[in-house]
Amino acid sequence: MEPLKSGSTIGILGGGQLGRMLAMAAAQLGYRCVGYAPEGDNVAAPVSAAFLTRAWEDRAALARFAAECEAVTWEFENVPVTALDAIPAEKLFPPRRALEVAQDRLEEKRFVEALGGRTAPFATVDTPNDLARAIESIGIPGILKTRREGYDGKGQWRIASAGDRDLLSSLRQPAIYEGLVEFEAEFSVILVRGRDDEVRFWDSPRNAHVGGILDRSLFPAGAAIGAQSEAARDLAKKVADALGYIGVLTLEFFATGDGPVFNEMAPRVHNSGHWTIEGAATSQFENHIRAVAGLPLGDTRSVARTVEMINLIGDAAADAHNHLTGGDTHLHLYGKAEAREGRKMGHVTRLER
Ligand code: AMP
Repeated sequence: MEPLKSGSTIGILGGGQLGRMLAMAAAQLGYRCVGYAPEGDNVAAPVSAAFLTRAWEDRAALARFAAECEAVTWEFENVPVTALDAIPAEKLFPPRRALEVAQDRLEEKRFVEALGGRTAPFATVDTPNDLARAIESIGIPGILKTRREGYDGKGQWRIASAGDRDLLSSLRQPAIYEGLVEFEAEFSVILVRGRDDEVRFWDSPRNAHVGGILDRSLFPAGAAIGAQSEAARDLAKKVADALGYIGVLTLEFFATGDGPVFNEMAPRVHNSGHWTIEGAATSQFENHIRAVAGLPLGDTRSVARTVEMINLIGDAAADAHNHLTGGDTHLHLYGKAEAREGRKMGHVTRLER
């Protein structure tokens, strides 16, 4: 397929900050973006050429949206896969299957295991008995996670003692129980795969989480991550190839004494890749758009010696402009109306080149 001509329209399903940053990158390359998401604080809307506020179930609106676009992508992992049925497969990047696999923690783990990846020990939990059995075989402590729709630590409960299994009575969804992994550090592999199957990787940052939410991404990432990122990249490439993936794909890992342990994947640009806007020759957002549009991929090389990407969560964004007095410091605010607890309001990237 020919690359999209400048002036072509790229559709983005979802209206959050990832869509906002994708739309800005697309505009730079001469494309117009049309967003689509249900009612909400759709911060991608003000930077998009057009934005449709419609339900995921509105097939007619989705079909109109698809007809207006030369290519369609998503920025939100929980777009119902049924909504994708209204988009012709040849216009959709990445492919539907990538979203399907990533939306279910069980399917995702099985998929990655089948390709030779290591995961935390896990068991499916649908009933209180399942949890008792899982705890017996895997042990305590562990984490109970809903199979679907969990993100940023939501839909997760630490199980520290056998008494905690009562939690299940309040759980209304299929879940998995995972053994707690002892890790030295957490890191992510972010890659981009083009329409010609070429794969490029960004350097892997060390990711520090607080309360299940990404707090910071850092370089230098440290020796443990440096030693394990190659093996993690090999696995990530296998995943991307197996899915026929096009666009940016993220896999999150624990660096352990026995090598990388896969935690989860995101079939999209990722918070731990925000540093690439200033810290790499080409950002994850630009390369995602390049891949979707069928353009040559950009250089993913890091251009800074040290990087600190700090998320501004909830109230932390209130005095955000104070960050502007730093030297090579870059502030990104997402334009969200309300600073709720745990809500990602923006980020700051500090570099030393
Ligand atoms: P997740 O939503 O699965 O990415 O989990 C959010 C964060 O919780 C991870 O980045 C880890 O810091 C922690 N976490 C999740 N699962 C495990 C596990 N099996 N062992 C240790 N820490 C975990």
